[in-house]
Amino acid sequence: MVEEFLATKEMLDRCSECLICIQECQLLTKLGKSPREIAENLSQNPQAYKNTVYSCLQCGLCNIVCPLSLSPKQMFLEWRRKLVKDGVAPFRNHSFSLTDKKWNIYTLYRDNYGISYTDLETSNCDTLFFPGCNMSTFAPKLTRTVFSQLKRVHESLGILVECCQKPILDLGLQERFEKAIEKLKERIAKQGAKRLITACPNCYYTLKKCLGVEVLSIYDALPEAAFKKIAGVISIHDSCPDREEGFFGRKVRSILSGCQIIEMKHSKENAICCGAGGLASAVDPDLALTYVKMRLEEAKATQAEYLVTYCVACVNMLTAVPSEIKIIHALNLLLDVEEDYSQVQPNLQRLFTGARAKENIQKIISQL
Ligand code: SF4
Ligand code: SF4
Repeated sequence: MVEEFLATKEMLDRCSECLICIQECQLLTKLGKSPREIAENLSQNPQAYKNTVYSCLQCGLCNIVCPLSLSPKQMFLEWRRKLVKDGVAPFRNHSFSLTDKKWNIYTLYRDNYGISYTDLETSNCDTLFFPGCNMSTFAPKLTRTVFSQLKRVHESLGILVECCQKPILDLGLQERFEKAIEKLKERIAKQGAKRLITACPNCYYTLKKCLGVEVLSIYDALPEAAFKKIAGVISIHDSCPDREEGFFGRKVRSILSGCQIIEMKHSKENAICCGAGGLASAVDPDLALTYVKMRLEEAKATQAEYLVTYCVACVNMLTAVPSEIKIIHALNLLLDVEEDYSQVQPNLQRLFTGARAKENIQKIISQL
């Protein structure tokens, strides 16, 4: 087996079928097979399992719990890349998430609802605030507040409203990801920026590995004095990209240390995905919904007043299902910004049912 199938090869050679990962993963539970069996099936007939490959949330919990440090997550990513290479990847609703295209769900949303940051752009600056697709699209008030707070401590500041291209990477579109990152590098170089400040853990971990400029998180770039002192009883939902390094989780817990923090059954490196990971919901929406419900059940059991997250995608996913616990982004709390996330889902639906539905769908279709 060639080098690009290293995780699959390891699975075939070393998986002891202890089934520990299955107990923690709804997809593996549903399949009822060990990762070794799945590796065998995929090696024999990948096309027969293409929906399975794209149902993995790429959450990485399997990597953490495996006593042999094997990675079903990486194995599924290897097969995503293979299906892309063979031109048989089961892309259906994914066309709205192709973030290297001009029109995707984020650019359509901003265009339809008049969200723009051109007044904050500058042609030359040392530092760029990179809010990421989710924050810039679904939390415009927060985006502007973060920018103005940053401006107090970073004089030469601009904004770059772009995607980190994690969705493309997760879909197995490796070549397109690399091309999009090259374009991003050119844009940053053109502005003369030496530093990027990210607000989203997906952007932070993706760009830190490949951009070649300094990448900071908002929790490093703002002084603690910028954050409001918060008290109360909260729980914290950790985001999957933070699972291995835990940087965002530690920072947010430290800044919110005035609160009583009640941890959920699965937290920090063992956190359960909010259901948005790996764009799995495009292939298996029921599985994604199972994850949302599991997360909300664990949150409810803490009896905390707030479930605090540090990723806008997680906020949107977790607020898609009614629950008793209030879900809030850490920065909405710490910078005292109200944002109506309950309107995001109806607004998204209106893109494809409202007056501009035809035009919106045409924009997506015309670039495929
Ligand atoms: S990455 Fe997540 S969804 Fe995929 S196999 Fe591992 S635990 Fe399951
Ligand atoms: S936890 Fe590791 S060794 Fe056990 S079944 Fe899963 S992949 Fe195999």
